[in-house]
Amino acid sequence: MRRPLLAANWKMHGNCSRVQEYLDTLIPRLDACPAEVVVCVPFTLLPVAAMVATGSPVAVGAQNCHWEEEGAFTGEISPLMLTELGVSWVIVGHSERRRLFNETDETACQRAGAAQRAGLAVIYCLGETLQEREEGRTLEVLGQQSAVLDRLDPQRLALAYEPVWAIGTGRNATPEQAQEAHAFLRGRCAALWGEGAAADVRILYGGSVTAHNAQALLAQGDVDGALVGGASLDVEAFSAIIRTAPCA
Ligand code: PEP
Repeated sequence: MRRPLLAANWKMHGNCSRVQEYLDTLIPRLDACPAEVVVCVPFTLLPVAAMVATGSPVAVGAQNCHWEEEGAFTGEISPLMLTELGVSWVIVGHSERRRLFNETDETACQRAGAAQRAGLAVIYCLGETLQEREEGRTLEVLGQQSAVLDRLDPQRLALAYEPVWAIGTGRNATPEQAQEAHAFLRGRCAALWGEGAAADVRILYGGSVTAHNAQALLAQGDVDGALVGGASLDVEAFSAIIRTAPCA
């Protein structure tokens, strides 16, 4: 059985004292926790987060990385720079990166591949827009977005199905909508890497997850965890979401 994975995406929020306080509160709560927990903070908070989380059950993640080890890429951060800090996960292809910073399937896949080669595990985001859903094209879009994944290593990968219309809107996908998309993605994984690898890949749901809707979403057979944005900023809310994870 797949171990549930709960990931916090702080986006561009927080400061050093807040991340320290947050992890000091969260870590002792995870002693008997069945889930794997990752906290993805802005680049500037990674050193503090990694230091506080050392030796704890919390893994620290970044929210993006470049595909080169170094070079003339002003403003970018390489995967090796992240591993040097003690970071072990990175989110790639988030819809905010795609929408606001022209991220494409191709660049997201390049970033993810470089991250894996540097030893990072990747949370790779995909999902349809509201228009695409209303046109009945959700699975077609997921099929297109996932076509590049054959270049990645399924062992250091979690997919995050994040319908764009559900991110930060307070309107989550229903458990049935999430399950349909996740089952489709697992089928894509089977086609890319075989049934065994597909059975092991964790597929997270992301989009307005709260302590109120998490249990029903995580109860779906192909929903293996959650990528949580807004609600993860509050340690009480994120802890409550973690507690809804089924035992592995
Ligand atoms: C996200 O940022 O990945 C996300 C799912 O945000 P929210 O939980 O706020 O919808």
